[in-house]
Amino acid sequence: MRTFAYSRADSVDHAAHRTMPDTAFVAGGTTLLDLIKLDVLKPENVVDINALPLKRVERLDDGRLKIGALVTNTDLAHHPEVKSHYPVLSEALLAGASTQLRNMATTAGNVMQRTRCPYYRDPAAKCNRREPGSGCDAMDGINRMHAVLGGSDACIAVHPSDMCVGIAAIGATLTLQGPDGEREVDFADFHRLPGDTPHIEHDLADGELITAITLDAPLKNAGSHYLKLRDRASYEFALASCAAQLMLDGDTIREARLALGGVATKPWRCSDAEAALVGQTADKTSFERAADIALKDAQAREHNGYKIPLARQAIVRALRNAARGDKPASETQESQA
Ligand code: SF4
Repeated sequence: MRTFAYSRADSVDHAAHRTMPDTAFVAGGTTLLDLIKLDVLKPENVVDINALPLKRVERLDDGRLKIGALVTNTDLAHHPEVKSHYPVLSEALLAGASTQLRNMATTAGNVMQRTRCPYYRDPAAKCNRREPGSGCDAMDGINRMHAVLGGSDACIAVHPSDMCVGIAAIGATLTLQGPDGEREVDFADFHRLPGDTPHIEHDLADGELITAITLDAPLKNAGSHYLKLRDRASYEFALASCAAQLMLDGDTIREARLALGGVATKPWRCSDAEAALVGQTADKTSFERAADIALKDAQAREHNGYKIPLARQAIVRALRNAARGDKPASETQESQA
């Protein structure tokens, strides 16, 4: 393990002016410290931001919900505003990781987490994301866990977050603070597709940090569901997951929100499928058609073709449960370590 300089920031402004190259911010440390120990990330400077005043959740006058960057995943999942108005986010959070990890992991850290592609985490493997231009051992390797949406010839790594799939289906804005001041970015634009530059993962400049995530106002009277399909029932990443929200007028769909996880290189909003659902009857035929639209551009490699029918099932079941407003116990259990 390499050495690095450690310091604590005592204000957001102080943190945002830590513009030395090779600086990493640490909060819960659930991704960063692992990757430092594996020699995948090699920051010269690590700035601890745990003392910053970014732990509030507040309802804004326009109905949106502002979440401080350092709110833990546990606190957010159980916050009354989230449970009442954004249950799809609460479910997504509780489906992720383990109790211990959720107690440490923060909202902004979850947004910033790195892929779990095993080749990325192995410095002996070729990985364009870790070392630009080196190649990608996943393309012709064991790619069972890899993406079928949003990939490129350079990288097909899945974005691992559950929380981000819930947020993608809700809609949100990120507040970023940097040396040049504050700016806001649409959550949908924050994570980048890999393209030719998979090592550039986010729209975050040197010295910038996320200070808040503001959720769009909730859909009124909408049913919702987060469904995660995985190899085992707890402490496991998604093979395919779906966050769905439906606002109904009788049996007719008035508004729909749909996002996928476990199958794409970024939290994957399905806008075309949402548009196709509006005005339709909330039934199996409409849900299957939406799933086909959501997955029409899916591309499989040697070992991950099963993800396409699996994601189709996840979409249909999540929409069905959102429409019914019920939540089968087996699909909503809190993940336990
Ligand atoms: Fe690296 Fe992406 Fe290839 Fe995985 S899929 S080895 S992260 S380039």
